[in-house]
Amino acid sequence: MNTDALLERLAVVRERIARACDSAGRDPSEVTLIAVSKKHPVEAIMALYEQGVRDFGENYVQEWQAKAPELPQDIRWHFIGHLQSNKVKYLVDDIACIHSVDRTSVIKQLAKQADRAVDVFLQINVAEQDSKFGVPPGQTLELLERVVARPELRPIGLMTMPPYVEDPEVNRPHFEHMRALLRRCQQALASNARGDLLPFDRLSMGMSADFEVAIEEGATHIRVGTVLFGPRSYDD
Ligand SMILES: *Cc1c(COP(=O)(O)O)cnc(C)c1O
Repeated sequence: MNTDALLERLAVVRERIARACDSAGRDPSEVTLIAVSKKHPVEAIMALYEQGVRDFGENYVQEWQAKAPELPQDIRWHFIGHLQSNKVKYLVDDIACIHSVDRTSVIKQLAKQADRAVDVFLQINVAEQDSKFGVPPGQTLELLERVVARPELRPIGLMTMPPYVEDPEVNRPHFEHMRALLRRCQQALASNARGDLLPFDRLSMGMSADFEVAIEEGATHIRVGTVLFGPRSYDD
């Protein structure tokens, strides 16, 4: 592992975040960098940790279970991968939040396994791609209702993974759409009897290819892998 190169990439990403916030008139403290560490070793995670990174994203339960015990306790782990309901029980205690809630079976399992309120993002398939997880935008409020019905879950925002694009501007309308959906959810939640549902103000969107545009459109959590860690050895 080339630590110097890794730290150089971190500096570049932080600089790019700062510039995107500047151009959008946002405070950089509103944007959490989630370093997506799937398929990267604990040494790389530790090197970023030493530079102050505390939020890491993992996609695979088994991989995360192997790595997490070797790393500091105050890391906030974000589960961002597709979630199988039979794996939920391994996650609920030690994951800071789950970004990929998109169906009833997962909601039920989370509610069953949790002994504290688990923070969750609802995953929206904003571009309505066949190959992607998440609900189509038109089902956002319905999914929200199903989550709200479970006091063991605390919905905190929306997450999306738009298509991979060469030109990030192509995804701008998708990010705008997400912001509009977030507002619709906020309106729906304002009249809900549960007292712990607002502000519901988080948007998990933007990856290596498009995080600056996502920040300009209101992302609060960007999930960045490749431009930080370098290419993964294999991908899915
Ligand atoms: C892998 C992954 C990322 C990071 O992707 P990069 O293009 O490497 O930045 C972000 N979000 C999700 C859900 C992922 O699976």
